Amino acid sequence: MNRIYCCFPGGKHKALTMSYDDGRTQDRRLVEIFNQNGIRGTFHLNSGLFERGDRVMPEEISSLYAGHEVACHTVTHPTIARCPLPEVAQEVLEDRKFLEERTGYPVRGLSYPNGSVTKDIENLLPSLGIRYSRVVGSSDGFALPENPYRWQATCHHNHRLMELGEQFLGLFKKQYLYLMYVWGHSYEFDDKNNWDLMESFCSMMGGKDDIWYCTNIEFMDCMDNFARLQFAADNRFVYNPNAGDCWIAVNDGTVVCVPAGKTAKL
Ligand SMILES: [Zn+2]
Repeated sequence: MNRIYCCFPGGKHKALTMSYDDGRTQDRRLVEIFNQNGIRGTFHLNSGLFERGDRVMPEEISSLYAGHEVACHTVTHPTIARCPLPEVAQEVLEDRKFLEERTGYPVRGLSYPNGSVTKDIENLLPSLGIRYSRVVGSSDGFALPENPYRWQATCHHNHRLMELGEQFLGLFKKQYLYLMYVWGHSYEFDDKNNWDLMESFCSMMGGKDDIWYCTNIEFMDCMDNFARLQFAADNRFVYNPNAGDCWIAVNDGTVVCVPAGKTAKL
């Protein structure tokens, strides 16, 4: 019987994604650094805080973040573990509506404001159309998220970034899938005067053939698409019911693209 392994697009086994919160004006400089190096990620925005003056403009959301993902961070950034659930629901849904009007796509990602979450909030999110949500802190690892509603990053950018980046570049065992996930706030680079840290990291990590550069939701969609593949009982063929292509490795590692809506012989 064929042995099947899930792969990232192109048959890759390593993925890198970035995740930045609050949509402050320093995002402009950060996006530029990402774009120069082909690094991609997700920007979690608060739709109720644009008038503060320290945020990017609503009008620039679709152009500034083109090629990246725009995701929710609630309307007003409350510590939601302390809020009634109907308020949490509105904080998420109203944020989605605002951001979707400007991006034109379903906004399905979230990061918890102040890292605040409860079991009840976690259980509420799927019915609000949210597919994942990020907590704070660093795992120091490259494992895939076990619970997408408690998704913890590999590291905050001020926590062992270059060291973990070098470690990630050195990973070669293809029997595993690896994810490096970096989070933070762009204004922190001004506060600490350490933009050179992110510049060095992105130029070190960019342009690698064995890394898939993805947004947070693209990563989740890749996993979800794989889970929906319909394999024959003897693994001799597979049907891909998704709208997007899937990549799998067969037996000795032969990479097969299973085109969207098609059956592939294995
Ligand atoms: Zn925040």
